[in-house]
Amino acid sequence: MTAVDLTSVAERVIAWRRRLHQHPELGFAEHETAALVEDTLRSCGLVSRRVAGTGVVAVLSGASSGKTLLLRADMDALPIPERSGEPWASQIPGLMHACGHDAHTAMLLGAAVWLTAHRNRVAGSLVFAFQPAEEGPGGALPMIEAGVLSSPPVDAAIAMHVLPLLPPGVIGWKTGPVQAAADDFTIEVIGRGGHAASPHLAVDAIPAAAHLVGALQSLGSRESDPLERVVVGIGTMTGGFRRNAVADKVTLEGTVRCFDAALRAGMPQRLQRIAEGVCRAHGATCRIRYDAGYPPVINDPHLTRLAATVVERCPDVAGVVELPAPRMGAEDFAYFAQAVPGCMLRLGVAPEGPGPVAMLHAPEFRLNEAALRAGVAAWCALALELPRML
Ligand SMILES: [Zn+2]
Ligand SMILES: [Zn+2]
Repeated sequence: MTAVDLTSVAERVIAWRRRLHQHPELGFAEHETAALVEDTLRSCGLVSRRVAGTGVVAVLSGASSGKTLLLRADMDALPIPERSGEPWASQIPGLMHACGHDAHTAMLLGAAVWLTAHRNRVAGSLVFAFQPAEEGPGGALPMIEAGVLSSPPVDAAIAMHVLPLLPPGVIGWKTGPVQAAADDFTIEVIGRGGHAASPHLAVDAIPAAAHLVGALQSLGSRESDPLERVVVGIGTMTGGFRRNAVADKVTLEGTVRCFDAALRAGMPQRLQRIAEGVCRAHGATCRIRYDAGYPPVINDPHLTRLAATVVERCPDVAGVVELPAPRMGAEDFAYFAQAVPGCMLRLGVAPEGPGPVAMLHAPEFRLNEAALRAGVAAWCALALELPRML
């Protein structure tokens, strides 16, 4: 058997990452991705099982006793046409790994290969969880419902997400809230159609909707504690027939992001009060749909400090920084972290060279592959040490 060292694993991780990057797959359609994961796990002697459709889970039992740690990577891509200019850019029109989940999958696979080859150093059990559909509709909850946290019983869960704002190979950590809750709403502003020359005989949905867009901003600026982080965003606004007709309906679609549970729970009722009030003032009515999305990701303070201590001692990690603030993006790792102590770390992947850094979800997003070695090393260190420390 050939020696499994970090350098050879890191080379394979980059090759897997490029292959996945060229063949991005949307949530619950990660068929080729899951097959690559299964084949690689099998080749290093791990038995895997399918959960939640395209999810893949494998358990590595260590040589000595210890706690059970779940290591999570997400696998899905986004419906974004790639403009990165990389030689290994997406070969699937309209789809792109713009959130780095290709790197997440490849790094956790690399860690599974290395840890299996060094099983004599592993204590407790490691659960490798390759999750589908993080970008929606959500694969974490179906995986948990399929028993991923109960067989074997998991004591703690870790995730690692790339971040192009951090230097390559640097790990970022933060206790408490790190990713926001994200809820969606759709408001239909309903008026009455007519001729543009006779507005008094119609109810124009356009000005009612325009006022509503402005009024909804008070959800963040006037109705929430100024010390709380809140985003109320309206992403689409559609309606009307043509320039000389009164619009009978305008549809607004938006998102609400926050951390505080009470603030979040009160938002639908506040939004309804504002929407109905503004519409009534214009003689219009409205229909509202409000859908709860992912909860916030709350990093367990004890586990997160332990994880930071472990990666700080890891010589292949370029540095460790405490992140100054949470991010308003959402992540369904939140469900794992609700069920057991959880920690989501960030891995710096800032690309080389000058110029603005394309963020996650941008068509121009690129990541620095040199950082993936640090990610694998961090995974391996966490997997070796945390089951003894928890
Ligand atoms: Zn994303
Ligand atoms: Zn992501």
